Amino acid sequence: MKYGRKILRDVQPYIPGEQPQTSGVIKLNTNENPYPPSPRVLEAVRALGPEAIRKYPDPPARALREACADRFGFPDASWVVAGNGMDELLALTVRTFTDPGDSILSTSPTYTLYETLAHLHGAQVRSIPLDETFQLPGAFYEAQARVCFLPRPNAPTGICAPKTDLEQWCATFDGLIVIDEAYVDFAEDTCMDFPKRYPNVVVMRTFSKSFSMAGMRLGVAFAQPEIIREYLKTKDPMNVDAFTQAAGLAAIQDYDYMVSNAAKIKATRSRLIAELERMGFVVPPSQANFVLAEWRGEPDARTLFESLKERKIYIRYFDKPRLTNSIRITVGTDEEIDAFLHALGELIAVAPQRGG
Ligand code: PMP
Repeated sequence: MKYGRKILRDVQPYIPGEQPQTSGVIKLNTNENPYPPSPRVLEAVRALGPEAIRKYPDPPARALREACADRFGFPDASWVVAGNGMDELLALTVRTFTDPGDSILSTSPTYTLYETLAHLHGAQVRSIPLDETFQLPGAFYEAQARVCFLPRPNAPTGICAPKTDLEQWCATFDGLIVIDEAYVDFAEDTCMDFPKRYPNVVVMRTFSKSFSMAGMRLGVAFAQPEIIREYLKTKDPMNVDAFTQAAGLAAIQDYDYMVSNAAKIKATRSRLIAELERMGFVVPPSQANFVLAEWRGEPDARTLFESLKERKIYIRYFDKPRLTNSIRITVGTDEEIDAFLHALGELIAVAPQRGG
């Protein structure tokens, strides 16, 4: 390509999960929340009216940031930056805190967008393989880099690294640590207390999963004001539109609604894991709103994914090292999961199984 930057020649675009535009689909492929957002979110958006379309939004998104600071026990909005989805905040992290050639620490398997973002910026990725049980190995805690991206729970495994191990590591890691808590509302604990104690830790959240707002695109990052000031220099001045700011504020103010939806999802997750294990899948202990399920039987994992799609049940298959024998299923409603399990059971029942 004559006009593109040299660096883009070898960059593969990030491929998100499919968003089928037809109805009648059971969609368990992109970790959306199966329940609607809080009614207060819809009210807040409806209340805005045409003026909110005509005028620019509040550039620093102050009310939203203040509400987030308050909710999570930070002194004020100077500890928070909002983004057009957490993905934007991840991209901003690379642009704000690395120079081309710098190294970025990550793991594998993990959320592949980190690597794409690093390549776009000319940063080097140092990806440490997780151990056989998908836990962080010792080598991870010894590595150094300008920036580290660590999702907790990890994607696509759903596993949470032990908080006590991370705590010790934060004190010894030289660079900036981003703890990606996209799925933490489905987990047992959070590292949201780290930024106050560690000047090099950023904790990020998204409204896409637990708050059922993936279509609005809203993420927030929490860190010491010195770090946040750097993000405010590089972010687009009006990166979060007026409707999303109002929706996010309403969602945070109706926090209990989110917590009760997350509880329903966790209950369905336990049932899904138990059923998958009964069928012979190996399932890591997920603390997220999805489960990774390894399958060594017939038909193979890719065929299961394709056959389910033919039945209009969308799950995720990753043609990536260590994941080719697995499928990833988003935890939907009980009815959706029942339909998935029923179809899966039929697909497996017709095939002779290897090794019992
Ligand atoms: N981090 C992880 C680990 C994710 O899986 C996702 C969703 N694909 C994100 C961040 C981004 O979330 P958002 O919708 O806020 O951009």
